[in-house]
Amino acid sequence: MATQEHDPALATVDPEIARLIYEENVRERDTIRLIPSENYASRAVLEACGSVLANKYSEGYPRKRYYEGQEVIDQVEELARQRVQALFGAEHVNVQPYSGSPANLAVYLAFCKPGDTIMGLGLPSGGHLTHGHSVSITGLFFKSVPYGVHKDTHRIDMDEVRSLAKEHRPRLLWAGTTAYPRQLDWAAFRSIADEVGAILAADIAHISGLVVGGVHPSPIPFADVVTSTTHKTFRGPRGGMILCKKEHANALDRAVFPGLQGGPHNHATAGIAVAAREASTEAFKAYARQVVDNARVLAEALASRGFRLITGGTDNHLILFDVTDKGTTGKIAAQAMARAGLVGNYNSIPFDPRKPFDPSGVRIGTPAITSRGMGPSEMEKIATWIDQVVAAPGDEDCIRRIATEVTELCRGFPAPGILI
Ligand SMILES: *Cc1c(COP(=O)(O)O)cnc(C)c1O
Repeated sequence: MATQEHDPALATVDPEIARLIYEENVRERDTIRLIPSENYASRAVLEACGSVLANKYSEGYPRKRYYEGQEVIDQVEELARQRVQALFGAEHVNVQPYSGSPANLAVYLAFCKPGDTIMGLGLPSGGHLTHGHSVSITGLFFKSVPYGVHKDTHRIDMDEVRSLAKEHRPRLLWAGTTAYPRQLDWAAFRSIADEVGAILAADIAHISGLVVGGVHPSPIPFADVVTSTTHKTFRGPRGGMILCKKEHANALDRAVFPGLQGGPHNHATAGIAVAAREASTEAFKAYARQVVDNARVLAEALASRGFRLITGGTDNHLILFDVTDKGTTGKIAAQAMARAGLVGNYNSIPFDPRKPFDPSGVRIGTPAITSRGMGPSEMEKIATWIDQVVAAPGDEDCIRRIATEVTELCRGFPAPGILI
């Protein structure tokens, strides 16, 4: 063991960073985390991530490495792969992508050439940057044909997806969302991909925990390849993963390494293994169900207070609402909510007349607050607070009072991974 003297603790070596980590612990403990892409990884996951596994280089895959000394790392990666494979019922798994975006880039590299046509849900409709948005490398290096949501229902317009696909014959069709409160119809996407000979890629970055928990249909039987982050509803470390049919295993593995990345982040791989173990329990299934139940209760409570919800509600973990009728903007509302300890994010709504940096909507979700054990009665409280803040986003007395009440509520619901 290294002695205290030769290897002092963080607080001794770098009090500034130690203090900032402490402050972030306090912030995460005392506020209500409503950003739907965020969660609390467990203490066990965080421990795995803060381990010496981060020190090791292991370019390649288990038993096919370019460095010696892999007897432990190979076992870690095999465990992560096997557990994820079993959880999702996938034929092949790669747990090396550094995050969700690099996982998606590996899909392009495996299946496309620069200039190929690709299709994905447009960003203003709730899609992700990496599905072909114009400022993303995926929009710059490929010919991107975005599809959208229906003008009246704000649900993905499958008729439009089909007609655009027939017209443009994409090499790659993305099905996946980042700000969309409804389930995806994987079978419908599959049949469109088959009609035009496209590779179907399902991006379940937001919903992989819901899929594992059985509260969102799984894309595994339908998609050629499935990508995900590991840190959203999956509740693991920051990372990415790719699940695919056997026939694509080689192409995707080679795309991740040596195509895009160097050495895998073995500490994150260990965190993914731990998260996959946690996700295999009955408790995790109950968690996933509660995430969706909480979102529905929160959505109904907001709707009953006159909020205009995009698509009229939710059947996943996420709610998108328009604050125009409340006489404010998404940014003003989200910033006032954050001062009250209700931390969501401003977000474009479909056909938003306002700019993305100053849009009409606010996006919230229930994954993190459900990890703290909050349930329907807390959702009612949160809806009441959101209503009060959005009605008077400049009323700092009201905001301060709510911030105090928020912190009091948080005390009763300790967050996983926060040990202060
Ligand atoms: C979050 C997200 C990603 C990207 O994940 P990062 O880890 O932030 O790179 C990709 N696709 C979708 C649909 C997402 O929601």
